[in-house]
Amino acid sequence: MTAQILDKLGRPIRDLRISVTDRCNFRCDYCMPKEIFGDDYVFLPKNELLAFEEIVRVTRIYAQLGVKKVRITGGEPLLRRDLDQLIAQINEIEGIEDIGLTTNGLLLTKHGPKLYDAGLRRINVSLDAIDDALFQSINNRNIKASTILEQIDNAVQMGFEVKVNVVVQKGMNDDQIVPMLEYFKDKDVTIRFIEFMDVGNDNGWDFSKVVTKDEMLNIIQQAFEIEPVPPRYYGEVAKYYRHVGAKSKFGLITSVSESFCSTCTRARLSSDGKFYGCLFSAVDGFDVRALLRSSASDEEVKETLKGLWHIRDDRYSDERTEQTVANRRKKKINMNYIGG
Ligand code: SF4
Repeated sequence: MTAQILDKLGRPIRDLRISVTDRCNFRCDYCMPKEIFGDDYVFLPKNELLAFEEIVRVTRIYAQLGVKKVRITGGEPLLRRDLDQLIAQINEIEGIEDIGLTTNGLLLTKHGPKLYDAGLRRINVSLDAIDDALFQSINNRNIKASTILEQIDNAVQMGFEVKVNVVVQKGMNDDQIVPMLEYFKDKDVTIRFIEFMDVGNDNGWDFSKVVTKDEMLNIIQQAFEIEPVPPRYYGEVAKYYRHVGAKSKFGLITSVSESFCSTCTRARLSSDGKFYGCLFSAVDGFDVRALLRSSASDEEVKETLKGLWHIRDDRYSDERTEQTVANRRKKKINMNYIGG
């Protein structure tokens, strides 16, 4: 039994998000625009990514500090070779109760069975449109939404609990909310709509592009009869609703209009092995990879990770204003290094 580790704002550490690659097979404008991530773009060489044994070691140490949930992100994590072997090893770590994966879904049919056998049960698929032409224009790789929907169906068939995450941007895909809800209404999939945030440095964000939770609710209530679902646990980021009379629920994530920094229990490791206390960090993260590759013992690594959590005071979304957005422009870590 470990004593609870709290940060400067009294938040415990519970979740660890690990980016296992900076590569992706999509080129979405707001994450990896094709003008920047072209054919000549140099991704991290293999030895700069955390090796599986390093990820397992650091996760074991984090579990001793209170981490219970691990989420594997990217880039696109299904591009990391033998990911199932990593999942199987994390699944064995004492104290880890839950492993999730965030993916664009394209390779689910191919890799799903092995991941399931390795112990993965929960998958979040990022899908920002259900209209084929619109989705193709978003991913810049000519991938149809129907292709991803098929992958999602297959994943559900395999036994995964699947959530679909939609980042809603005004004038871009807000007309997808109703058709997507309609499509998933009677499926065993939870869909969540997320307010557009200024993640990374290339997503062209400003306040006018945010569709707030209240605006989304307004759109939804004009089309469906819905009722709220009470929160299930401390720090649950989505506010859930269900269609009256239906089993499936859907969520709204109020990252901008009602931020949830006060219950943010997430530590992040970027694909190059740096620690970040926040998705919006503007300072270079602490180099955990170098620490793991030094002669430091597990106990020394643990003390350092504990210290990093103790000094964490990030609450960017609570403080977001035109000014803070401008101040951090071009200084944040890019999304393909840290996931969403
Ligand atoms: S802005 Fe940072 S501290 Fe706040 S909820 Fe998001 S990741 Fe957590």
